[in-house]
Amino acid sequence: MKNIADNICTVRAQIARAAKVTGRKPQGIQLLAVSKTRQADELRQAFAAGQHAFGENYLQEGLDKIEALADLAIEWHFIGPIQSNKTRPIAEHFQWVHSVDRAKIARRLSEQRPPDMAPLNVCLQVNISAEESKSGCMPDDVLALARDVAQLPRLKLRGLMAIPAASQDPQHQQRAFAAMRTLLQQLQTEFPLLDTLSMGMSGDMDAAIAEGASIVRIGTAIFGTRNSNSNTQETPL
Ligand SMILES: *Cc1c(COP(=O)(O)O)cnc(C)c1O
Repeated sequence: MKNIADNICTVRAQIARAAKVTGRKPQGIQLLAVSKTRQADELRQAFAAGQHAFGENYLQEGLDKIEALADLAIEWHFIGPIQSNKTRPIAEHFQWVHSVDRAKIARRLSEQRPPDMAPLNVCLQVNISAEESKSGCMPDDVLALARDVAQLPRLKLRGLMAIPAASQDPQHQQRAFAAMRTLLQQLQTEFPLLDTLSMGMSGDMDAAIAEGASIVRIGTAIFGTRNSNSNTQETPL
């Protein structure tokens, strides 16, 4: 049986090493365990090993786990594509949303965020490799979207998220991450409190950390390989 606790240790060590190589502090990089397709008891094992932030892509699956794990103080992040008629349960049950890519979704999340909860932390998803099939707003549209989101009272704009196009060429990957860093720096001139770059997955976390990632989203390296066809980020909710 794979050992989730060992894997988490290994990933944390890799993050620390990648941070050190580029002169960063490991504490500046948060590990988000991506738990799509995993069973609640696998998340329990990860939690027992000290992992308290989890990311889910599919709404119903995420809600089921939030209910099953209500006894644990988990920070829940929604990282999948969002349909506008599914925003309410996201606003009611998650602390973070990484995948906001249009103003309509942001407006609904703000309206539907319960008043007794803290503002919902939001990252804008950027289609940094300009792939036609991918979600995310185009880099040229990020500033306008950020201005819209910054007006919304029940959202707290934190930064940017991206899933660069898969590539065999690590330099290609690194250029995409570097472009994200530049985009965030541009936004920070107008929104100095932005502090989050959500980028880097099991296969490319070193490059993401070198370019300033503050949250890495790691699934496979913690929980093992997923069954095929349940791992595409574009599957509808
Ligand atoms: C699945 C997924 C991840 C994790 O990918 P791994 O390669 O398993 O680490 C990260 N981010 C998003 C948006 C995902 O859908």
